[in-house]
Amino acid sequence: GGTGFVGRALTQLLRSRGHEVTHVSRQGGKDRISWEELSHSGLPLCDAVVNLAGENVLNPFRRWGDAFCREVISSRVETTKTLAKAIADAEQPPRAWVVVTGVGYYRPSPTAEYTEDSPGGDFDFFSRLVSSWEAAALIPGSPARGVVVRSGVVLGRGGGAISQMLWPFRLGLGGPLGSGLQPFPWIHIRDLAGIVCHALESECVQGVLNGVSPSSPATSNGTFAQELAAALGRPALLPVPAWAVRTVFGAERAIMLLEGQRVVPKHTLESGYHFIFPDLSGALKDIVA
Ligand code: NDP
Repeated sequence: GGTGFVGRALTQLLRSRGHEVTHVSRQGGKDRISWEELSHSGLPLCDAVVNLAGENVLNPFRRWGDAFCREVISSRVETTKTLAKAIADAEQPPRAWVVVTGVGYYRPSPTAEYTEDSPGGDFDFFSRLVSSWEAAALIPGSPARGVVVRSGVVLGRGGGAISQMLWPFRLGLGGPLGSGLQPFPWIHIRDLAGIVCHALESECVQGVLNGVSPSSPATSNGTFAQELAAALGRPALLPVPAWAVRTVFGAERAIMLLEGQRVVPKHTLESGYHFIFPDLSGALKDIVA
């Protein structure tokens, strides 16, 4: 997933810190190997492995049906299994193994707050997807330190959720989705890349880290719409009705947009990570500047 939205930001950060990065990709190119090469020839000698691969769940041009669901699952679970097997089979295994999953693990609720220790993972398509994704990452007895980063909505320039929202908001046609009261778990892309880099470089980090900003539990979809509009100097008056979201994305996928979780990055902060963008207004100003 190194060629994707988060992967490009992480690659840039790692290279700026003097690391060498090789992507595992479906497409050939410089500093890349294919999934087939990985399966046949094994893992190249490396210090760490990160999985960021995954078919874009919120692609509005793909109908939510069985074929797309299978692709969403296999692009995450099978790639994770392939990497876990390559790590398990490596003569000289890497020291760290990081998988980025999602806060969809936790049950959407307007009130409950979730830390990394909270239960989840067993109530709908997305929560079960995260459970199988994280289970695929387990390598019993491996010396590689395992870290799972459960990410919220990644906000950044040139990709992700915000790229589809910028035009309506720039035209003053943006607004909250549905009631706008649902929690909006978010993280700036530099912080998600920063957390992954911290997990790779800090020998003491292990287990689950929530990849959301510290102010994320206090952010609703409506607050996000207002702050984005303010950052652009536009009004955010037009709510997008829930039925319209369901029509475009299908009822199951629409849950990701019309409901949300209050997620606290407890272990992330305890592990010593310092957020670059803890507040939404600062994060959005950086993105739309
Ligand atoms: P992107 O959609 O930008 O791309 C991820 C990469 O995954 C692509 O560059 C592609 O690499 C690879 N990929 C896509 N489809 C497939 C497929 N069918 N089979 C194998 N590989 C595939 O994702 P992001 O960078 O936004 O997200 C990275 C990870 O973080 C994903 O797993 C995502 O689920 C997770 N995440 C992202 C969030 C967000 O808001 N962006 C929120 C929460 C979690 P290539 O073409 O080189 O093979």
